[in-house]
Amino acid sequence: MLSVDEALRAVLGWARPLPPRRVSLRDALGCVSARDVAADRDAPPFDKSVVDGYALRSADGTGFGPLQVAMEIMAGQIPARRLEPGEAALIMTGAPLPEGADAVVMIERARRVGNSVWIEPQPLTAGMNRMERGREYRAGDIVCRAGERLVPAHLGVLASVGCAFPEVIPPPRLAVVPTGDELVEPDQAPGAGQIRNSNGVMLAALADERGLHATLAPIARDERTSLEEALQCAIKNHDVVVITGGVSMGALDLVPAALAARGVERIFHKVRVKPGKPLWFGVGSPQASALESFGKVDPIRPLIFGLPGNPVSGLVNWLLFVAPAVEVLAGRATAEGVLARTPITLKLTDPFAHRGDRPTYHPATRVGVDAARPLTWSGSADLWTVARADGFLAFPAGDRVHQPGQVVPFVAMR
Ligand code: AMP
Ligand code: MG
Repeated sequence: MLSVDEALRAVLGWARPLPPRRVSLRDALGCVSARDVAADRDAPPFDKSVVDGYALRSADGTGFGPLQVAMEIMAGQIPARRLEPGEAALIMTGAPLPEGADAVVMIERARRVGNSVWIEPQPLTAGMNRMERGREYRAGDIVCRAGERLVPAHLGVLASVGCAFPEVIPPPRLAVVPTGDELVEPDQAPGAGQIRNSNGVMLAALADERGLHATLAPIARDERTSLEEALQCAIKNHDVVVITGGVSMGALDLVPAALAARGVERIFHKVRVKPGKPLWFGVGSPQASALESFGKVDPIRPLIFGLPGNPVSGLVNWLLFVAPAVEVLAGRATAEGVLARTPITLKLTDPFAHRGDRPTYHPATRVGVDAARPLTWSGSADLWTVARADGFLAFPAGDRVHQPGQVVPFVAMR
């Protein structure tokens, strides 16, 4: 059985950044830019006023009587003519300064009567309230680098340089396939022996939280033919498929055989971890979308995760294996980068007795900045406790009482 580290290495060995694609600006949020983007023009594109006020020549000074209002310049207009000595122009924020003007006085500090304007006595300096052309960036400057993760401000900058369809690493298309004859959907009343499908929405939401567009498939039944069809359908259109249930040792745990029948290559089954031991991982055959990378040595193959049905097992598997793989596919991290990360550690607030030959991920709440308290928890079927946790303390294998103050690795959920 693989250790957590070995299993992660095996998963990431199959994870590649997806081929870049042009998307609309709105769809680019959270994506990694695949290219350097250069400005197509200076910003601002002209010397502009940053206030509503009067453009003037600073050399004219104040206290020599009024200036003549020669023109009015609204944002979007261009000045009618050059400003001569003794003149001012009413100007709005964002409007171009007329030639000859080198400063702007705020409208609140001027008094206008007819075509004359008195400027309050104040030191006038060249450049006052003026943003000169190119101060923000110049045409040709790189305003966004390849590899940068796009936040809303980047999208605004890309819009301002006319990059309406940036080339990005797209978010992986991820499908969640819940399986189990005992399951009914959340809006149904469970019959005798049935429970509601809680994993489906939870796993889809874990994907949504990372900016993916997750497809949540209907519940697949524990029956070979329909299960195979459901899996095939998910694999065909997605980069990552997360199946829940049906990968353990039960009589109706049919997922591994169904995947094998549909050409999915098994990479490993089972990991030395608690909860989450039955994890199954494999790769589908290269798919249509990978034709873009046709001719490359290693075409992209969909990653297939079979998670055990117990909700917390699936959640822990997601955090440990699916989340890092998704980061690599989305170009947000490299496999080497993920493997080189040092885990967060927190100090135990209370003694914790651990037994067992597998490392255990135990739900805990953070206390202050550097400590965590393990919660009273009923094991992998107890999702409610986990809903109140901030993450999982990772206790190493072995029977031992961990003492307060001891430092333990922590996998954060929020
Ligand atoms: P399995 O891995 O299919 O053997 O399922 C293990 C346990 O998880 C069983 O108690 C299932 O009823 C439960 N389970 C499986 N799938 C789900 C699901 N989608 N939502 C909630 N519980 C589930
Ligand atoms: Mg099942």
